[in-house]
Amino acid sequence: MIDLHMHTQFSDGKDWHTDHIARAKELGIRKMGIADHICLEPVKWAVDSDQIANMTNRMVELKKENSDEFNLLFGIEVDYFPGREQEIQSIIELIPVDYAIGSIHFLGDWNYDTDKNGYEDKDIDALYHHYFETVQKAAQSGLFDILGHLDLIKKFQIWPNSNMTELYRKTAQVIAENDVVVELNTSGIDRPCGEFFPNREILELLCEHGVKVTMGSDAHRTEQVGRHFQRGIELLQEIGFKELCYFEKRKRYSIAFNELNLPWTKKEMNETNCI
Ligand SMILES: [Zn+2]
Ligand SMILES: [Zn+2]
Repeated sequence: MIDLHMHTQFSDGKDWHTDHIARAKELGIRKMGIADHICLEPVKWAVDSDQIANMTNRMVELKKENSDEFNLLFGIEVDYFPGREQEIQSIIELIPVDYAIGSIHFLGDWNYDTDKNGYEDKDIDALYHHYFETVQKAAQSGLFDILGHLDLIKKFQIWPNSNMTELYRKTAQVIAENDVVVELNTSGIDRPCGEFFPNREILELLCEHGVKVTMGSDAHRTEQVGRHFQRGIELLQEIGFKELCYFEKRKRYSIAFNELNLPWTKKEMNETNCI
C-alpha cells in the first residue's frame, strides 16, 4: 500500500515521523511519504523557513534507517499561487524531495479552507470556476508531481448550484496534457463534505483522460494514517484505475493494484475512524 500524504509537527501535524512510521508498518503500508506544508505566505500551518533544513535532515536520516522493504519517501505539500511560479520553483529546488504535491489553499489572499466566513458574499459557481482554473494553472506550471485534494473547495459543504461537468472535464484534460498525478485524498470523508477529494465524477473523468493516481490520507495525527483506504482502493478499481503511483527523486513509478499486498484482513484498518 501507498500513503504519500501526511504531516508532522514541523507543519501542522500533531505527531512525529516515527509515530507515523510505526503505524504505517502495522497497517502494511510499504511506501509511505511525509509531506509537510511549504507556503510562500507566513502561515502558522506551514514549516517555518528556518526549520526547512531541520526537516530535511530529519527526513534524510529516517530514509536511511527505512530503506529496505519499508520505503520512506520525502515529500512536501506546496501551496500554489498563480504568478509566483519562479519563487515556488526556487523553494522546491532547495529541498531534496522525492516529490512535490501542489495544493491550493488560497484564492487570492483568502485562505478559503480555514476561513469559513469568506463564503458568505460569494457566487459559489463563480468560485468553483476560479478554483478549478487555478488547479489548471497549477497543472500547467510543471512545478508539481502530484496535485493535492483536487476539489478541496467543497470542504465546508460548499456545493455548486449548476452542473460542473464541463469545468471538471476541462480540468481533467489539462491535467492529462501535463501528465500530473492526482491523489485520492481520503481525508474528505472526515470533513464536513463527507466524501473523498476528488469526487467520483471527477475521478471518472480523470480515468477517461488517462490521468494516473496515487493515495494520501492527509494524516495530521498518527491514527489517521491510511484512513479509509479500503474504500478508496475499491472505488479506484471500480472506476477503472489499474495502478497507484509513487515518486523517488522526482521520478515516477507505479504499482498495479494486483501487485499490492492489501491487508484488509487486518481488523484495525477497517475500523480506523478518525476526525
Ligand atoms: Zn492540503
Ligand atoms: Zn495536507
